[in-house]
Amino acid sequence: MSKHQITPGQQVKLDEIPTRGEEFCDDRRQAEKRFKQLRDEIIKWQQVLWSEGRQKLLIVLQATDAGGKDSTIRKVFMGVNPQGVKVVGFKAPSTLERSHDYLWRVHNEVPPAGMIGVFNRSHYEDVLVVRVENLVPEDVWSKRYQHINDFERLLTDTGTRILKFYLHISRDEQRERFQDRLDVPEKHYKFSLDDLEKRKKWDAYRAAFEEALTRCSTEWAPWHVIPADQKWYRNLAISEIIVKTLEDMNPQFPTIDFDPASVKIDE
Ligand code: ATP
Ligand code: MG
Repeated sequence: MSKHQITPGQQVKLDEIPTRGEEFCDDRRQAEKRFKQLRDEIIKWQQVLWSEGRQKLLIVLQATDAGGKDSTIRKVFMGVNPQGVKVVGFKAPSTLERSHDYLWRVHNEVPPAGMIGVFNRSHYEDVLVVRVENLVPEDVWSKRYQHINDFERLLTDTGTRILKFYLHISRDEQRERFQDRLDVPEKHYKFSLDDLEKRKKWDAYRAAFEEALTRCSTEWAPWHVIPADQKWYRNLAISEIIVKTLEDMNPQFPTIDFDPASVKIDE
């Protein structure tokens, strides 16, 4: 089990978990080298998973604004056959989506057999932003932890492995990243004034994250809290967990029902 995995029943206190990777690894150069090897492993495993066409892998990414979800996806899946990976971002629901139950749009996007699905935000928004911004009353959102655990159980019972990553950054790191988005013209588009409003509610978001991590880290769909102030460590830690999981899923190339040696092309 990864050192970053939340064990079921563990009461998560984010202040007690380091945001800096240096606490776990003191050799950045070595970590960057290892990360590239692991990424090659992901590339190889994806091909087998796809060819086998039976199992599915779902990766859920959640974080505060500027937590690094986009850059994690760009770095960890660089070079993986785009045909076998589907990235889905969840924004505020549309009118149609709101007219259904909150898991409807999510269920519709889970990966089919052979695929890796990556959720950039997810159904967890329905117990995070929805809770903190009071978009629905407490008696509505408070039932959702159980729904989510049951939903994830359904997915795992039907051949999906689920990995959930919370990218853990400090409040200071968020400020630096926001400042960088203001200072660098090519990054202006990433900045939103709304992000500052959310930053003001840092503690309320913290509490909502802690409850989701505590109540929804299950044996079948564990949460991982990834120290993410330093991208080199974040990439290493996430790719290590993905490779371990793929090894454990152990997909196989399909067996063939003919003897390749006996096939004569153009005869
Ligand atoms: P970046 O982190 O790069 O800014 P983003 O994921 O924040 O990207 P945005 O378009 O800025 O993308 O934000 C999407 C917004 O949609 C977020 O503020 C998120 O909280 C919100 N959202 C997602 N799901 C829901 C939901 N179920 N209900 C309400 N709001 C939601
Ligand atoms: Mg945003």
